[in-house]
Amino acid sequence: MADERERVSILHGGGGLYMHKLLRERIVPRFKPRKNLEIPLSLLADSAVVDGIAFTTDSYTVKPIFFPGGDIGRLSVSGTVNDLSVVGAEPIAISCSLVIEERLEFEKLDRILDSVQKTAEESGVDVVTGDTKVVERGGVEEIIVNTAGIGVRSALLDENLRRVSSDGRPLRSRWLDPRNVKPGDRLIVSGTLGDHAIAIMAARRELGLEIPGLESDAAPLNGLISKALEAGGVAAAKDPTRGGLAALLNEWSEATGLGIIVREAEIPVREEVRAACDILGIDFLELANEGKVVLAVSPSHAESVLEAIRGHPLGRNAEIIGEFTKDHEEVVVETEIGGLRYLPMPVGDPVPRIC
Ligand code: MG
Repeated sequence: MADERERVSILHGGGGLYMHKLLRERIVPRFKPRKNLEIPLSLLADSAVVDGIAFTTDSYTVKPIFFPGGDIGRLSVSGTVNDLSVVGAEPIAISCSLVIEERLEFEKLDRILDSVQKTAEESGVDVVTGDTKVVERGGVEEIIVNTAGIGVRSALLDENLRRVSSDGRPLRSRWLDPRNVKPGDRLIVSGTLGDHAIAIMAARRELGLEIPGLESDAAPLNGLISKALEAGGVAAAKDPTRGGLAALLNEWSEATGLGIIVREAEIPVREEVRAACDILGIDFLELANEGKVVLAVSPSHAESVLEAIRGHPLGRNAEIIGEFTKDHEEVVVETEIGGLRYLPMPVGDPVPRIC
């Protein structure tokens, strides 16, 4: 019998070190695209670009399937729309594939499908294809939803990138891409962190935790990202999903070869989320978000991008939280009392099965 080290563990799905190891050592090297991809697979970007079309896919296994602020349907469409939007694509169409556990109530299925359609309308995409499978009891827990999506290059991208390169930097990609980042570029986060993960934990009642009023942030961000592109100067974008801001910043530090410094006092977080994290002994910087984006913006455009995002209903709590730097090699957090702490890549997700 194979020992535990020879098996997939729940940590491999957590968006941190284990997942990166699985992707880099076992999954990505097995695929050998013949085309010269504008965004190489090895970058582990949110979307690929094939013949000018952005393309992404995601599967959702959230537990419970209905939670405050959303459900698995809203989560699926939002996640796919967001993965297209963060490379600078305008999402146009998605698929909806279902793996359903037998005996799932039709009432639940209807609610999920209505939510898929409603979120698609909200983000201006059409559900155009799909697949439906049913497995025996226990084959999956209630339902798994997979959404793939395609998008076309945003009409705002050329002018946005022209502003990025107005400081004379060479652009290494014609998409939003960490390879376009330069030291000094500012980091903007679009709102409070950790809402989704803590709302899911509370909904599970696994930890005797009840937080009245706290909802998941699951939302399509293509409208907000368009506002940022209109303001211009956005070099890269990414949604802090599994592994949270901590994983995102470590991925960007690796992709750019730069250090990153963020100021803890500037990072938006709800008091109740911070309090829950303190009680549970987890770092809100590692928690998944499903309706937030982090932008890398040239310093001369950071204020105007911040203002543009704050003018959008989903970006009212946006903040500039730090910058890329050559002064450090890693991701460093300046604490509220002025000390520095190293922010490593998380190992796995402190809360599994949340997306
Ligand atoms: Mg993503």
